[in-house]
Amino acid sequence: MTERAYLDHNATSPLRPVARAAMISALDQPANASSVHAEGRAARARIELAREKVASLAGVEPQAVTFTSGATEANALALSPELEIDGEAVRLDVLLVSAVDHPSVRAGGRFSAERIETIPVDSDGIVDLAAVDTMLAKHSAAGRRALVSVMAANNETGVVQPLRDIAKRVHEAAGVFHTDAVQIAGRLPFNLENSGADLISISSHKLGGPLGVGALIARGENIRAAPLLRGGGQEFGRRAGTENAPAIAGFGAAASQAALDVGNESLRLLKLRDRAEAGVRDVAEDAVLLAKNANRLPNTVCFAVPGIAAETAIIAFDLEAVSLSAGAACSSGKTGVSETLKAMQVAPELAKGAMRLSLGWNTSEVDVARFLDVWKRVYESLGKRAKERAA
Ligand code: PMP
Repeated sequence: MTERAYLDHNATSPLRPVARAAMISALDQPANASSVHAEGRAARARIELAREKVASLAGVEPQAVTFTSGATEANALALSPELEIDGEAVRLDVLLVSAVDHPSVRAGGRFSAERIETIPVDSDGIVDLAAVDTMLAKHSAAGRRALVSVMAANNETGVVQPLRDIAKRVHEAAGVFHTDAVQIAGRLPFNLENSGADLISISSHKLGGPLGVGALIARGENIRAAPLLRGGGQEFGRRAGTENAPAIAGFGAAASQAALDVGNESLRLLKLRDRAEAGVRDVAEDAVLLAKNANRLPNTVCFAVPGIAAETAIIAFDLEAVSLSAGAACSSGKTGVSETLKAMQVAPELAKGAMRLSLGWNTSEVDVARFLDVWKRVYESLGKRAKERAA
């Protein structure tokens, strides 16, 4: 069997061996962590150990971590007009979200559509800080308090947002700041304190943990969003439902490994990413590297060639054992025009060709070499056809 080059870590990262081992051990001792017997206590211990590990990745106290079914749920939980901060009920009147945020944030959680506003971005996909100022000033003047949600790094382009600058503005306007840190966690050194955020969402499967588990992490244990799921008192009453102990254990193990490796890994991946980018352009002078000048994650390359449809190229790569994504394919194999690239005002014709390479913990030089080797052939056949059509 041919080895495949899996270069789609932003969609999901393969399970790390440490996460697999932690899960298998937890699967072999199934128990409800709320039970008082020995098995229940063992499950509780696994969950609390995982909570410490996830907390440590984000640089917070364990009690600040609420486990959820993934980042989609963590985002939905965070985006609540009702928060409790230090025992006081806080009402947020409007939600400001960036135009390039993940659909699970742009959907607005529990804010009704008329209370959601979109923050524009520039052509590199960076949030327009002047627009943030204007929007916050308008709401402050009208006595409205804002919840602002801007992702830490984009899943399609890897563009990193100036979180601290945004947080400062939000806090000056007495607002609350949430960031979807799904793509940055474990890819660049990151923690809640440095981000300036009050709430952050992360997802296990982007870190090499299992699918279907994530966390909402708060600045201290005294910020809580009104629960989405009520019932049993799990997760300190913030999220009801019997905890998925095996998945949580795998998440903890992956988070811990990711935190340990992030310094070296970010440098290693940066070298591989730069090699991939240079190779793309060596083969195709007309290739456009999207958001090239922005501060980006060290693992993400987003590129397009005029006249080459990403859908066709991705299939050609797949047939040669290289896995990439097209545009916003992060969400369920969709191949429509990416909202992120639209917000960056990338011409629709070019955006249709956007392909994403995303590297991760198990990506090797061999994988990048294979990608470049296949790219030569893909470009020769599809690029030639595109040129013939254009002539
Ligand atoms: N936010 C971002 C930036 C993402 O890339 C994703 C995954 N596509 C999510 C949120 C959703 O995460 P999950 O799959 O854990 O629900």
